[in-house]
Amino acid sequence: MGTATILVVDDEVGMREGCRRALTPHGYQVSVAEHGAEALRKLRDRHVDLVLLDAMMPGISGLELLGKIHEHDPDIVCIMITGYATVDLAARAMKAGAQAFLPKPFTSDELLSAVKQGLQDRQRQIELRQQREQEEEALALQRTQQERAKFNAVESRFMLVVVHELRNPVGVVKNYLQLMRAGYVDADERDEYLDRLDQRATQLLDMLDELLELAHLKQGLDPSNLRPVSVSSVVSSVVESLCEKATAKGLVCHVQISSEPTIKAQPGHLDSLWRHLVDNAIRYTPRGSVDVVVTEEDGQIVGRVIDTGIGISNEELGRIFQEFYRSESAKAQCELGTGLGLPIVEQIVRLYGGRIEVDSQLGQGSVFTVRLPKEALTATP
Ligand code: ADP
Repeated sequence: MGTATILVVDDEVGMREGCRRALTPHGYQVSVAEHGAEALRKLRDRHVDLVLLDAMMPGISGLELLGKIHEHDPDIVCIMITGYATVDLAARAMKAGAQAFLPKPFTSDELLSAVKQGLQDRQRQIELRQQREQEEEALALQRTQQERAKFNAVESRFMLVVVHELRNPVGVVKNYLQLMRAGYVDADERDEYLDRLDQRATQLLDMLDELLELAHLKQGLDPSNLRPVSVSSVVSSVVESLCEKATAKGLVCHVQISSEPTIKAQPGHLDSLWRHLVDNAIRYTPRGSVDVVVTEEDGQIVGRVIDTGIGISNEELGRIFQEFYRSESAKAQCELGTGLGLPIVEQIVRLYGGRIEVDSQLGQGSVFTVRLPKEALTATP
């Protein structure tokens, strides 16, 4: 055991010196303390491996000191020594973190064997802890690496999709331009080609704007930029601005608002949420109506956008919130689109702690229901 350092804490000088005499010849560095306060001072000044601690001392009791020693260094082995060995005290000392219990009087051999055993236990304890720490570190490192790999994979998959989707309209624009340049477009077709070029360029710009919006939304809310927003005003103005488009298609458009809640939101977020939903309803409804209803249910703001349009099949329902997804029937109905509207809507709903549900029948129509918690976000007037 060699150079292990031992502190003997006992108010009896005979006991302190007796221990010193018994231990020093075996290579232990022994220091002594008469009471708890001196013991704590010595512990602060030097490294100690093991403390022999009198359970019955005036001032700080042995049990109390035991707690303070372990607060200072949990690896220090404490062996309680006392002349009044009772089962109760032994049990309390062990519970408080003592490694062993040595009843007075004891022989040198008993002391040496208790110290030897205590130091061996300490060594094993330290090794076990180090091993556990190493294992935990390795596990944490492995987890970080796995998460990073997953993140990188998702990020590069997203990049591939973005590039693929953006390449499409740019490719079409380039083809049209080449055809026109090479003289394949007659004068009477020129305007039609220019219109198509315009449409593709607009689609490209829309995609870039929406990608930018989505990227901003993914960064989360800016708490310093939350303002009270009236949900009904936003809904009314969105429907009003899209009404002309609906009427031009022969659709009937209604708004029904039975609740006037105000919630804290970032400028533009609620407008974008309703605009995408109502615009989709108009675009994917060839005939019939688009209704927007705002109510309050169970302390939540509930907004429904109801259309009598093309509807969504069950298989498609699982995919419509994926970035860039557009169903074949949607493409047939409305050639241009970005497939980014619903991901934006979903992200906004999530940011405000809400939920979105879709109920749809193919060929019959759809109901998009948004629920936003009113309580957490309700602005104080
Ligand atoms: P986009 O409308 O530009 O295609 P969205 O992300 O807004 O992109 O919508 C994704 C898809 O969800 C649409 O392509 C369509 O297939 C489906 N969809 C969304 N809203 C409706 C609706 N009201 N009726 C039928 N299908 C819809």
